[in-house]
Amino acid sequence: MKEKAKMLQPHTYLYGQTDLHIHFIVDSNERHYVIFDKLKNEWRCDCKWWTLKNTECSHIMACKLKLVELSENE
Ligand SMILES: [Zn+2]
Repeated sequence: MKEKAKMLQPHTYLYGQTDLHIHFIVDSNERHYVIFDKLKNEWRCDCKWWTLKNTECSHIMACKLKLVELSENE
């Protein structure tokens, strides 16, 4: 799972931010939309894995890596 997240990271884009949410697109073979809820401190993804199992998927992991990368570049 971690390895997949690393592979997805270069395909992960931050495309918008509001007071409440941060929006990401993970665009590899399939496109998925990931949202971080700042108030609840909660991640959401639209993939099957997340929807069915409600556990952190590789897309969410990739977005977390992306956030770290962005904050390191500041
Ligand atoms: Zn996902």
